[in-house]
Amino acid sequence: MDTYFKALKQILEGKDEITFLSGAGLSTSAGLPDFRSDENGFWKQNSPVHFKDFLAKKEFRKKSWQNNIAIHKKLNNAEPTKMHNLVNEVLYRGIKNFHITQNIDGLHRDKIKKNNIIELHGSIFKAKCLQCGAEYDTLEYFDNLKAGADCLCSKCLEGFVKVSTISFGQSLLSDTLEKAKLASINSKFFIVLGSSLKVAPANNFVRVAQNNGAKIVILNKDPTPMDDYADIVINDCLENIYEQIK
Ligand SMILES: [Zn+2]
Repeated sequence: MDTYFKALKQILEGKDEITFLSGAGLSTSAGLPDFRSDENGFWKQNSPVHFKDFLAKKEFRKKSWQNNIAIHKKLNNAEPTKMHNLVNEVLYRGIKNFHITQNIDGLHRDKIKKNNIIELHGSIFKAKCLQCGAEYDTLEYFDNLKAGADCLCSKCLEGFVKVSTISFGQSLLSDTLEKAKLASINSKFFIVLGSSLKVAPANNFVRVAQNNGAKIVILNKDPTPMDDYADIVINDCLENIYEQIK
């Protein structure tokens, strides 16, 4: 295992292009509940609204907004972990280093390197009109929404405004996917951080990277179905891994 940690440290400090792919495991140590192994029932209480229901009925749109505001509040006290910071340091070092994330919590955000951060499932902090694409700050929009009013866009007055996270039944944005694919193709090292790699399209990027010559590193608490493709696999939580490579 020591050799693996040493190799990982060398990769992170090296000059080759690195693309990270992160999942919930990157944020669980920041005190956020994982969507899947949710023990305190947060996600049960705030059960997600299907995209077609959001479009169909005002009551579902209201529920969807309530959920998102609850998640927003939950995130207020969360701070990025040391591993989040390490990833951003790597992004700062190379313009061709990218971070693809499945997380919507924004803990990975960085104002300067924002173009190198690809949020596959959108972000809780932005809301968007489904008709004209006008963007809003989630909290600002919600605060200005009159009690009982439907979430209509104040710019086009036609479309519904939805928090920009991808709902069940809603397709991922094609330009986001394209950007993630390019970041995978161009990487020399593709490093998975805290993702179970059980859901597409995130897990497909591992293969895309490998087919284009990248070495694959998987850092996850539990084994993943993609471990056989990897050059380095370390099964531990990311805090422990960080302590070994800092
Ligand atoms: Zn609009």
